Amino acid sequence: MPTIGVHALVFVSGWSAEEAARAVEAAARHGYDVLEVPLIEPHAIDAGATARLLEQHGLKAVTSLALPAAADISSADPDCVSRGESLLNDALAVSRDLGSAFMGGVLYSALRKYERAATRAAWATSAEVIGRLAGRARGMGITLGLEPVNRYESNLINTGEQALEFIAATGADDITLHLDSYHMNIEEGDVAGAIRRYRGKIGYVHVNESHRGHLGAGSIDFSAFFRALAEAGYQGAITFEAFSAGVGDPKLADSLAVWRQLWTDTDELAASARAFIEVETAAARAAVKPLSKPGGPVADAGMT
Ligand code: MN
Repeated sequence: MPTIGVHALVFVSGWSAEEAARAVEAAARHGYDVLEVPLIEPHAIDAGATARLLEQHGLKAVTSLALPAAADISSADPDCVSRGESLLNDALAVSRDLGSAFMGGVLYSALRKYERAATRAAWATSAEVIGRLAGRARGMGITLGLEPVNRYESNLINTGEQALEFIAATGADDITLHLDSYHMNIEEGDVAGAIRRYRGKIGYVHVNESHRGHLGAGSIDFSAFFRALAEAGYQGAITFEAFSAGVGDPKLADSLAVWRQLWTDTDELAASARAFIEVETAAARAAVKPLSKPGGPVADAGMT
């Protein structure tokens, strides 16, 4: 059985005590193993209370965030960079307190439409901060994942290849790739080939349709996607992500250009997505064998 996760913003818009309880209960009721908790405002999260809720419901947490423009570690403004590093450190502390062994997302830049290409200085500044963050994460037993996102959401890392080059620049080779089918579908020429090529470096996976609605209702070739994950020998969590107008955090929805209502019945969406991932993973694992590793152990955030 694969480890199947769901992004909390499928169920709620924020992380009040009531929302935390509702997200944890819904994820558990639909049979998910992992709940991805977004750390948009780490200070606003009562990590102790959420950790207890997760334990009561037998769920594991994974955490993620995307930096706001005012805390962009790829900025030319040193104050902005240091705000970003503080935010990442706070998020790491909350991840530890939630018992999360993985923190991913857009950790390396703001999540926004940039007006021009990233400079080498932006790349180097961000890599330096992420290298330090990886050192602190290692001390807490947390694996970092960098999520390449499409060109409208960052100018720094749009493909897995760029992420691997960036990871090499940080000097922290235990940083992993956090892949997302939605972004790969836009930026990778050959999605399945890319997944096979990145084997051994994949720490976390988001599945997300081409329009971010119901899995199977868009244009992504998911059977090829899941077969490639099986060939890559990926054993980590596979987490469902979707966005619809009126659901989830309104600020995040604006930065992701969520203008249309892709679904209204969240329970039906969560149930069908979980079943889709389970069926597709089982079919893929039956159809293909893992390829040999390019070397070194598979880093999969310990979530086998
Ligand atoms: Mn994603």
